[in-house]
Amino acid sequence: APTIMWFRDDLRLMDNPALCDAAARGPVICLYIHDPAFPLGGAEKWWLHGALTALDHDLGACGGRLWIMAGDSRENLSWLVGQTGAEAVVWNRRYGPHARQVDADIKAALKARGIDACSHPGNMLHEPWQVRTKQGTPFRVFTPWWRAVQAMGAPLPPLPAPVRTTFAPVPPAVADRLVAVPDLALLPVRTDWAGGLRGQWQPGEAAAHARLDSFVAEQVHGYATRRELPAQPATSGLSPYLRFGHVSARQIWHAVDATGQGDQDTACFLSEVGWRDFAQSTLFDFPDLGTTNLRSEFNSMPWRHDPAALRAWQAGKTGYPIIDAGMRELWHTGWMHNRVRMIVASFLTKHLLTDWRAGAAWFADTLVDADAASNPFNWQWVAGCGLDAAPYFRIFNPVSQGEKFDPAGEYVRKWVPEIARLPDKYIHAPWKAGSVAPAGYPPPIVDLAGGRARALAAWKSL
Ligand code: FAD
Repeated sequence: APTIMWFRDDLRLMDNPALCDAAARGPVICLYIHDPAFPLGGAEKWWLHGALTALDHDLGACGGRLWIMAGDSRENLSWLVGQTGAEAVVWNRRYGPHARQVDADIKAALKARGIDACSHPGNMLHEPWQVRTKQGTPFRVFTPWWRAVQAMGAPLPPLPAPVRTTFAPVPPAVADRLVAVPDLALLPVRTDWAGGLRGQWQPGEAAAHARLDSFVAEQVHGYATRRELPAQPATSGLSPYLRFGHVSARQIWHAVDATGQGDQDTACFLSEVGWRDFAQSTLFDFPDLGTTNLRSEFNSMPWRHDPAALRAWQAGKTGYPIIDAGMRELWHTGWMHNRVRMIVASFLTKHLLTDWRAGAAWFADTLVDADAASNPFNWQWVAGCGLDAAPYFRIFNPVSQGEKFDPAGEYVRKWVPEIARLPDKYIHAPWKAGSVAPAGYPPPIVDLAGGRARALAAWKSL
């Protein structure tokens, strides 16, 4: 009898614990269920189209294929088990509250039918419950948590792709219910906004490893100092590959460790990968992370409702070049540099006094790496209401941040071409340029000093 390998956020063949388990048991059914209960943003959908196509191709090269179904996960799995006589269903864990509920329901339903249901470690260095304080409680601060992770030593060594896997044939009744990737309608329809994404990204496991290899061979040198400069291609660009599980955090850890470099660059990079694990753990321990302030005093924050300002922020038309460059990079490529993510998030939640959830929702729709843990975790961090958060009174000034991290204005000139000809001294404050200020670029939508004072007053009212 076959085993169903249920793929979710782990679209890879290498270092896939559940796939290895399935392959060792006998014939395998490789399944993906496109379930509307797990809604995706536009950029994620675009990515998923490429990701499923690549996985199907990779499975084809081993003599298999990806079975794709659409609809409720519980119903589809239950029906498929009946049709195929599968004796086991295996998967790698995910940590969001709804995902865990669905997995628990399915496990219980399968066990009641005498079918084995087996879950395996998800895409983290260690499972969330393995890293605990001495009292057995979740850590709330990153540094001691990261120290505890490091004290645990190396994460599990990555598994190779299973060799000589046999694949179960598709029964005729099942064939009628399987769909092809294009049937999922994941690509933009009326307006093709995805040209920039196509130009920048290649979803799939092969592309993930090409990127990891070149990062480890070249860019990791100098990462600790260059990672803050958005004009430099200094970071790995691995975030969407991690989001969709084309590469595992364990593979990244071991690839970096194998360099034997062990200096501040590799340490800094691995601690960033650690922040991702910390965000996943936070989602596991605080399931409301995506919707609720982790610090409840923020529940009475007098957020402003200003649709015009929100639209200007989304469109990259705030009149602050570093903000507008970041928001346009996001729209065009589905990604934004981390330093700039922090600056635009601070601007929205502080100068514009807008609820972080509005920003997180926009990011969720436009990021190719939109992640149910990292996205709200970082928004709450910037807004001051999260775990180990930046204090609310730390308000980034977009002009001085631009001058510090994009001193020659290279990043701004790339994404905000209408001001590209301004001299360096005005590139982050075009309104000061007087007669040489270019027409067509908006004046600032908020006064920085006024916005800052308003934000601090709101925060003090809590
Ligand atoms: P690198 O610098 O190469 O880092 C390597 C990996 O470490 C990344 O791929 C990522 O998985 C992880 N990482 C790095 N920084 C962080 C961080 N602060 N938090 C969590 N993981 C991190 N990252 C997402 O993956 N998905 C999101 O939805 C997301 N939303 C964010 C929202 C805001 C407001 C902010 C400030 C940050 C957000 N980040 C998010 C974190 C970070 O900006 C991206 O992970 C990073 O820019 C990805 O680029 P990279 O792969 O080149 O990073």
